[in-house]
Order: sequence, then structure tokens, then C-alpha cells
Amino acid sequence: MKEILLLKDGEIVLKGLNRRQFEDVLKRNIRNVLKPVGRFEVTSAQSTVIVKPLDEDVDLDEACDCISRVFGLVSFSRAVVCEEKTLESVLATAPEYLKTQLTAAKTFKVEAKRSDKKFPYKSPEICRETGGAILAAFPHLKVDVHDPDVTVYVEIRDFGAYIHTNPIRGAGGIPVGTGGKAVILISGGIDSPVAAYMMAKRGIKLTAVHFASPPYTSPRAEEKVVRLLEKVSRYAGPMKMYTVPFTKLQEKLRDDCPEELFTIIMRRLMMQISERIARENDCAALITGESLGQVASQTIGALGCTNEATDMVVFRPLIGMDKQEIIDISYKIDTYETSIEPYEDCCTVFTPKHPRTKPVLKFVKQAQEQAHFDELIEDALQNLKTTYINY
Ligand code: ATP
Ligand code: MG
Repeated sequence: MKEILLLKDGEIVLKGLNRRQFEDVLKRNIRNVLKPVGRFEVTSAQSTVIVKPLDEDVDLDEACDCISRVFGLVSFSRAVVCEEKTLESVLATAPEYLKTQLTAAKTFKVEAKRSDKKFPYKSPEICRETGGAILAAFPHLKVDVHDPDVTVYVEIRDFGAYIHTNPIRGAGGIPVGTGGKAVILISGGIDSPVAAYMMAKRGIKLTAVHFASPPYTSPRAEEKVVRLLEKVSRYAGPMKMYTVPFTKLQEKLRDDCPEELFTIIMRRLMMQISERIARENDCAALITGESLGQVASQTIGALGCTNEATDMVVFRPLIGMDKQEIIDISYKIDTYETSIEPYEDCCTVFTPKHPRTKPVLKFVKQAQEQAHFDELIEDALQNLKTTYINY
């Protein structure tokens, strides 16, 4: 039997005039994730994206797995294409295609949708007739319209009649690429990959920036960040990653700034350098994995001092979340095991024994100005390394 995938758009339905553009981006993203799986035709009609395999031996389970990570879809179903667009064909196909599910079920119902108004039977008739055919084939079943084990959907569309059952939940969100572009400050920790995922879910296309301080941080630490981003890119799509050589800046920080302000000035430098990279790459915002109160550099006062270093909007999607809530998402997106691998991040290089939790902006700025980082910042920006990330 020939199968296709029927995908239901999510929030993009609400977006009125932008709808066309949203759907185009969504279809492009779907085509991209399906490229490694095989050849597919991807079209859309009436809030549904239709994915049709073009070869016989395509692995539809794998296609479903890829599609489950595409933002902008509420749900999707694997559906069978009836040989003809006739009631007879529907009645013959439904019991056969859903044999396994219907055998295991005790109750069922049929829902019909007829978007081709020229089809000679109305939805209630289609439901009744299909229900009858299923009962004849599986006499143990009972109809339950309120809480059935299996719902059989019959869709009569312009190009064919399709049958499917309980849909699979989609990734939600809005299509990546419809929400603008932003830079994610990515470490090897648990939080920033989750922050990246959450903003991609709101339609943002990501560019990643990672600060590395060799030899204090190892090449393994950077390679770990690449692997984390590869996991994120299964949701967020391909992205560019810039590695910033941060060693000289951190050494200067150690030599020329008061110890209790190391962390806060370092965070400000990260913001300033990331902002420059963002502007170069047409990105309108920065994203961090900061969460209020998690560490000394994430108190209200410290975040205020960090924030002042940039004019750009800074998204902190984890700001109100507990660590466990963040960890739950990192399990879901499969970054947790990689995140906990024990490689040093540059944040743990020269950490002060007693970081200021209530830094005073005036003194922080003074200390930063006195150390004169400008030349080293330019130097770092001249020596960025670019890596292309793909799933
Ligand atoms: P994470 O788990 O994301 O490392 P964290 O709780 O360890 O976060 P910090 O180390 O204070 O917190 O970092 C706060 C945020 O700063 C990170 O979420 C990330 O966005 C950014 N950041 C930290 N280290 C780096 C780095 N080496 N390169 C780029 N961004 C970084
Ligand atoms: Mg960290």
C-alpha cells in the first residue's frame, strides 16, 4: 500500500498575511531534514503539508523521526493512499490498513473530512459506511465516540482519499527562519544548548559563538561544543559556529583587574565580542543560558552589569527555570550526556574565590576601562575560527 505523511501546521495558522511565507519556510525546512532519508515531494494545502515519497523503498519511520523535530508542526500522521478516490476503495482500504491497531483495540470511531466538495458522499455518510465496514471485519469492536482506543480518520482531498489513525505529536513552535536571526553564546554546559533549542523553537535562526582559552581549555572542550550543536541542529537546522580565541583577554583580565570582578568583566567581554559578531552576521539579538540566581554571575545585580555591556536585545529563555527543568529538556533533546562530559570551559579558568554577587556597575566599568581590552578584542575578532555545523 502506498503511504504518505500528512503534517498539520501549528501556530502559523494564526499568522494571517504571513501565512504563505511561513508555509514556504516550513516546507523548505522539511525538505532539508528529509534530504538524507530519500527523495520526497513536499506540498501544502488547507493547513496541511503533504509529504509524498518518490521512491518505493523509502524508510518512512526514519522520515517521521526527522519530521518530529521540525518546528511549526502540531502533529503529523502516516496515512495510506486509497487506490481510487471512491467510497468503495475507502471501505476496502480502512480495515486492511489498520488491521494491527483495530485488532488490538476494543473501541473505535471514524472521523471524516471532505475538503473535496465534489465527492458524492458527505462526511456523516462516509463515517457511517466506514464504521460499518470496520465492524464487519472486526466484530469484537464497539463504537465509542467519546473515548475510543482508535480513531480512524478518512480524508477526502482534491488529489486523493487518505486514511490514518492517532496522530503523532509534532515539535510545536514556529518554523526556524521566520523569527529572525540571533547569536547563541554556547559553552559546553547543560544550559546553553537548551537555550539554543528554546529560541530556535520560536523561529529564530542561530549563529553560535564559543569562547575558547587554549591551553587552559582543551581541543576536546571545543569538539564537545561542536557535538552539542550538532544535536541542537537536528531541531534548529544547520548553523555557523565562531570560535573566539579568548586566552589573551582572560590573561589580561587575570593580570590587570580586581579578582572579585574577574567573572563579571569576562561576561561583559563575551557580550561585547558576541555583539560584534552578531552585527557582522545580520543577527538582531544575543541568547544566553543564564538562569536567575544559579551562580554568582547570575544574580540580578550581576546580570544588570553584564547586560549593560551591549545595546542588543539579550534573550535568556532559561531565566525563570529550575536546574531540573532545564535538565529535563536537555534529556529530551539528547544533549545531557554530552554536556556532562568533564571538559573545562573558559568560565572556570581563573575563577575568583569570592566573586561579587552585588557588583557596582561604576566600579566594574572603571576596572574594565583601566585594563584597556580594546586592542585584544580587535585581535580576537580578526582571528575567529569558523565551523559549519550540520546534523
Ligand atoms: P552553561 O551550562 O550554558 O555553561 P552555566 O550555568 O554554566 O551555563 P555560566 O558558565 O555562567 O553558566 O555561563 C552563562 C552563559 O554564558 C552560558 O549559558 C552561555 O550562554 C554563556 N557562556 C558561558 N561560557 C561560554 C563560552 N565558553 N562560550 C560562549 N558562551 C559561554
Ligand atoms: Mg558554563
